[in-house]
Amino acid sequence: MDDFETIREQFPILHQRIHGHPLVYLDSAATSQKPDAVIESERRFYETINAGVHRGAHELAARSTVAFEDARAKVARLVGADAEPDHEEIVVTSGATAALNLLATAFGNASQGRGGDAARRFALGPGDGIVVSEAEHHSVLLPFQELAARTGADLTWFGLHEDGRIRTEDADEVITPRTKVVAITHVSNVTGAITDIAPVVRRAHEVGALVVLDACQSVPHLPVDLHALGVDFAAWSAHKMYGPTGAGFLYGRRELLEALPPANFGGSMVELAWMDRPAQYMAPPARFEAGTQPVAQVIASGAAADWMRGIGMDRIARHERANAAVLLGLNDIDGVRVLGPTDTTDRIGTVSFDVDGVHPHDVGQFLDARGIAVRVGHHCAQPVHRHFGLFASNRASCGVYTTTDEARALLEAVAKVRDFFK
Ligand code: PLP
Repeated sequence: MDDFETIREQFPILHQRIHGHPLVYLDSAATSQKPDAVIESERRFYETINAGVHRGAHELAARSTVAFEDARAKVARLVGADAEPDHEEIVVTSGATAALNLLATAFGNASQGRGGDAARRFALGPGDGIVVSEAEHHSVLLPFQELAARTGADLTWFGLHEDGRIRTEDADEVITPRTKVVAITHVSNVTGAITDIAPVVRRAHEVGALVVLDACQSVPHLPVDLHALGVDFAAWSAHKMYGPTGAGFLYGRRELLEALPPANFGGSMVELAWMDRPAQYMAPPARFEAGTQPVAQVIASGAAADWMRGIGMDRIARHERANAAVLLGLNDIDGVRVLGPTDTTDRIGTVSFDVDGVHPHDVGQFLDARGIAVRVGHHCAQPVHRHFGLFASNRASCGVYTTTDEARALLEAVAKVRDFFK
């Protein structure tokens, strides 16, 4: 038994049959399955220390606060962020979408003069530029498109190569001295391509722009070191990195978080509140964490982060590359086209494909009847589908538990789809 078989055994959900077939779960880009360590962590929290964090005078509140902050540090360590107490660069959110909206809203607030002089670096107005890419998930595209509409800034974007890779080599032209923010994906949830963000970061910083990285599809699959990448902000969700739903994270360089005005308002983010004067907000990360936090989910995310580091992100990435190599065999099946790079260089094991003449929903149902779970639709990324001349596609995506036999089972089933629907 190789190590990855032992790892797979830690996922209780995978030990079942679907429509009489062993479950082949190839939908990890939508959400990953959870190992025992994560399920147990959440369960233990509710059995032993369940309490709201930060405010209680009682022992359970003190214990849950320690566990919550400890989890924040574990998540920070996974992504190469600062994990020192009082220097936290990790803000808890309910997911990547919430993190990206938080950021865009905070930039919008700064554009209206909130946050004073310190926040002026985030302010946008007519003539300023926001840059995204054509490969963005709607959770990046829409908050920043709304920010442009709200502030009068122009939204422009990186185009794509034929295989869907982002043309970051165009950074010197796309990012101009008027650009204030660049929001870009680290790994596309459709093509699986890893973005070469070095030219983006270099050029953005040359013109004084901030870089926001969508790390949703990189953190679960690759070693990610946000300090080494040099990005200013990053967002990702716990549920795609073997953690629970309902939690996500916003990374911000500490000095930027210090200057950023809040986006959400309510309990636990304010030092002083009055009836007749503006409130005085807390230092980050609390300033951005209004209301009761998803404590159990964050603690279990910490367990997920440690669990992943225990396996080793390099090993996880290698394992996935091997599965990607098999999945890319889809491109050799008659009438099947892979949407994305067709070699394993700089890509993860998320492979979208089109079956000529067969609607993705039919493909999905055909596969489901054989116990194979894939995603169908536009995967919340319509512009990249338009680039490929499609509205929707099928997507197979691997996790740490995926085996090469499962990847081969998908290929065998897809090879039969067109005959079945003839
Ligand atoms: N960005 C990418 C690349 C994604 O794949 C996803 C999730 O599908 C998101 C953003 C949004 O994540 P969530 O729905 O967990 O907020």
